[in-house]
Amino acid sequence: MRDRDVYKIISEESKRQANTLNLIASENYVSSDVLEALGSVFTNKYAEGYPRARYYAGGKNVDDIEELAKSRAMKLFRLSKAKWSVNVQPYSGSPANLAVLSALIPIGEKIMGMSLDAGGHLTHGHKASITGKLWEQTRYGVDRISEEIDYGELLNRALIERPKCIIAGGSAYSRIIDFSRMRTIADEINALLFIDMSHFAGLVAGGFYPSPFKYADVVMTTTHKTLRGPRAGVIFSRKEFSAAIDRSVFPGIQGGPHINQIAAIAVALKEAAAPSFKSYAKHVVENAKILANELDALGWKIISGGTDTHLFLVDTMSRGISGKTASDLLEGVGVVVNKNMIPFDERNPGDPSGIRIGTPAITTRGMKEKEMKIIAGIIDKTLVKKSRRPEIESQVKELCGKFTMKN
Ligand SMILES: *Cc1c(COP(=O)(O)O)cnc(C)c1O
Repeated sequence: MRDRDVYKIISEESKRQANTLNLIASENYVSSDVLEALGSVFTNKYAEGYPRARYYAGGKNVDDIEELAKSRAMKLFRLSKAKWSVNVQPYSGSPANLAVLSALIPIGEKIMGMSLDAGGHLTHGHKASITGKLWEQTRYGVDRISEEIDYGELLNRALIERPKCIIAGGSAYSRIIDFSRMRTIADEINALLFIDMSHFAGLVAGGFYPSPFKYADVVMTTTHKTLRGPRAGVIFSRKEFSAAIDRSVFPGIQGGPHINQIAAIAVALKEAAAPSFKSYAKHVVENAKILANELDALGWKIISGGTDTHLFLVDTMSRGISGKTASDLLEGVGVVVNKNMIPFDERNPGDPSGIRIGTPAITTRGMKEKEMKIIAGIIDKTLVKKSRRPEIESQVKELCGKFTMKN
């Protein structure tokens, strides 16, 4: 690269990624093929519109790549063209969610989403998000004891509030969501069931989380989390909703699609259909369960007592350490996590009561059971300062050296 300033910063970031243990549940390491597609000449092309119906000339190849991405998306999740349609243009998950809601829910109506401290996402109607300004949010959460979704309370609230749409899915919920039950509740009040599988899409693709398609009217996913593709969003919808959603993505919210990003989605979707991806997905979940169990055995309170997925929350405050302090201490030794609210958190998002831990990235690097036990020890020793820092740092370094990012 001729630009030495930018080159230097990118090199530093490569080094940082190689030399730290990434436990951020929403991050991953993409393949060199995904990076190559992202960095391709498709970034030069304008292509407003959809395949075979563009506003710009010169679109033969962009049509081919977008159609390939769409057909791979349908195939990966085993969807029939008679019932489902897919839009691969959303720039990311947040605009995709805005596109879905603005296509199907009149402004000012009620939508129902999981509260942030229970593990929901901002774009499900939180007041800080545009979705909470355009629509009125009614929330559901988890039971105080089990810390799993309280479906009884969800039903009661739905019956009282009668939202037009129920959104399932979140960013910090570690348990399998009962889609069938949510479908029944949505039917009861004639609401749309919108499933946001951003976090667990890779597990669905690999066969280690139930597929939401049997139950949902619309399914959105980001492609950069467990799915291990470029940063982007994809919307699947039942045929009757597809035209409105397509119009809502373009020209409603977005302009020209990022064709380089769509090319990278196509690459990632093929990778996710390979047998090796199944094994990755299996180990992601196994690793999360082992890591949660090990931490539990070391005296750490795991929200809901464990996990069925790639992530879990640790209540660090139960041992007197705030989420921010925990995250800072861990970063100091090369372990990267994010501070996170826990159910019924009385602190604030800037310094909440816990941390979120996820295994997709370290599983992509090839780590398994033995390494999970070492990592649990590293976290415990760092937070309760049981060993000297150089000792912990050398353990992190050893793991990173042994499990390189094989791009
Ligand atoms: C990450 C995420 C999003 C938003 O994705 P961005 O690409 O960050 O805009 C939306 N919904 C859920 C559940 C997510 O986890």
